[in-house]
Amino acid sequence: MPYDLLTSTDNAIGDAIEREHQLQRRNLMMIASENEASDAVKRAQGTMLTNRNALGYPDSRLYPGSQHIDEIESLAIAYAEELWSAEHVNVQPHSGSLANLAVYLAVLNPGDKILALDPQDGGHITHGSDHHVSGELYDTEFYHLDPESGAIDYRSLEERADRIDPDLIISGYSTYPREIDWQRIQAIANRTNAYHLADIAHLSGLIAAGRFPSPVGIADFCTSSTYKTIRAGRGGMILCDHAYAEAVDNALFPMLQGGATMSNIAGKAIGFAEARTDAFKTYIDQVIANARTLSEALVERGLEIFTGGTDTHIVLIDLRHADEGRSGRDVEHALEKAGIIANRVSLPHTQHATNTDGIRLGTTSITANGLETRHMEHVADFIARAIENVTNDSALETISQEITEFTETAYHPSP
Ligand SMILES: *Cc1c(COP(=O)(O)O)cnc(C)c1O
Repeated sequence: MPYDLLTSTDNAIGDAIEREHQLQRRNLMMIASENEASDAVKRAQGTMLTNRNALGYPDSRLYPGSQHIDEIESLAIAYAEELWSAEHVNVQPHSGSLANLAVYLAVLNPGDKILALDPQDGGHITHGSDHHVSGELYDTEFYHLDPESGAIDYRSLEERADRIDPDLIISGYSTYPREIDWQRIQAIANRTNAYHLADIAHLSGLIAAGRFPSPVGIADFCTSSTYKTIRAGRGGMILCDHAYAEAVDNALFPMLQGGATMSNIAGKAIGFAEARTDAFKTYIDQVIANARTLSEALVERGLEIFTGGTDTHIVLIDLRHADEGRSGRDVEHALEKAGIIANRVSLPHTQHATNTDGIRLGTTSITANGLETRHMEHVADFIARAIENVTNDSALETISQEITEFTETAYHPSP
């Protein structure tokens, strides 16, 4: 009963948190933009630090009594600078979205031009989409994926860059399972004299472990969330060279945010400290091995995988050629009933009216809970059976019970 205190304060909240705990233990949590933070990270987030209003940066706070919070933030920064070989890191963004906005505020003027991947193809909402303030403030043009291979269409990127002369090019994506040629994008940015932001929200853990090419030192700015492949709890960060440090820091505070969330910064510091260990490299290797094995096992069961496989933690089931009644939305619902939590995504050249033709699976959380390569056959079976039985509620209920039993024996949550 880890939530006793909460339940005695407010039954409804305490109970709901307890049920959420059970949900995460009894289902296959496969949302690729989530992960499970360690107990140490969760512990760091629930301390006296939440009492502080940390306005300003270490050694230049607006309030006295800040020596310990300064030390914590300075350590988070030092660990991050070492992990990603960055000259300067700001660990204060409350989220990856605000990290992106701070970069825009640091170097763009309203009306400036952004060139980013089309949200339909897996670009992030904060990359100049209509539904985000970046789309209101800046003039955005989109580049695309090659609809056949699923790879970034570097030619379409180059052609658009030459045509519109952008002020900022954004790389880094939410649903892209393949390697990214950062140098090639940087070369295009150089030709048109544009800044280059690499949004590594999904990739920062893979990069910290040395298992994915790093854009740090290539792109002008890198931004990331801190709770996806890097397991450091909710939040964001910005990485850049010394030359941009002051502009970035000022754009984040005081222009965009108020006081820093010290409890989350302590979580980041602990998560970054964990990422410096060999155990973290082993974890990331297992995440990628699990994704590859899962992808192959799904192909064996007759499913199509977008780009044919993966270099990351992401596996995309391609439903563009699936029957009517098996759109991304239909399949997402069926998987949820079966105890597999994964979200629908859009893919290039949509076929279904619901505009979602893909299911994005991520192996970060299930790997954090101890699943290994040998378990991926079972996971693939559960997924393939749920998709086969998309409208058969009793079959989905059976799978859900099997998954509860499976997690009871196979899950060994890391401390
Ligand atoms: C997850 C993500 C973000 C940040 O999301 P927040 O919820 O704001 O932390 C930013 N960019 C990309 C590409 C992402 O996938």
